Amino acid sequence: MNKNYYIFFGPPGSGKGTQAKKIAEKLSMPIISTGEILRQEVELKSEIGKKAQKLMSQGKYVPDEVVGDLIVKRLRKKDAVNGAIFDGYPRTEFQQNFLTNKLKKFNTTGIFVAVKDAEVRRRLGGRRACVCGQTFHTKFKPAKKNGTCDACGGKLFIRSDDKPESIKTRLEVYHSLTEPLLKYWENNGRLIKVDGEQKIDNVYKEIVKKIVNF
Ligand code: AMP
Repeated sequence: MNKNYYIFFGPPGSGKGTQAKKIAEKLSMPIISTGEILRQEVELKSEIGKKAQKLMSQGKYVPDEVVGDLIVKRLRKKDAVNGAIFDGYPRTEFQQNFLTNKLKKFNTTGIFVAVKDAEVRRRLGGRRACVCGQTFHTKFKPAKKNGTCDACGGKLFIRSDDKPESIKTRLEVYHSLTEPLLKYWENNGRLIKVDGEQKIDNVYKEIVKKIVNF
């Protein structure tokens, strides 16, 4: 059986997490989001969570070894052995080498959700998150009941890394460390690129169409 692993790329606020979730649902595949796993660790106040919290709130990356351990643990779970969707991993060259080596026997496809910096700043300012992983936007994707998660009823909050000073750092770190990773996928003919500045549903349709025709 062919095992497929789809790896989402895009700047912070590109909507790659939202799209990764929708594609995971459509393909009945698990989603592996390092940002979400790390936020759960922070919530649990685990050793990893304590190490990660400050870096995350500043918009900086958590060390490769820490995230690598989480990925290894997650990939061992039964539901991920036949394929998975990655959201937010890899983010550095080390992580990319680590992952492509782990998945070298399987089909891997990069999906790049392209969004310009100006749009990123506009979007992240209004983002509201829930601990369950759902995200909303005050203007573009409002919760049905103000301040409350549609999915679980949890209280919505502004991620500390969505504050303006962190947004600036996140964009800088993304451009210097993560954006260059796209070359590998492009050069190997394994990259699907979509316009992430469209409406959520249109981005989704474009991804599905491109996956089917890939
Ligand atoms: P995200 O929800 O994907 O935007 O991730 C939130 C934050 O978690 C990032 O800004 C980083 O601080 C940290 N993080 C998530 N994934 C990684 C990764 N692959 N490598 C390093 N840090 C990460």
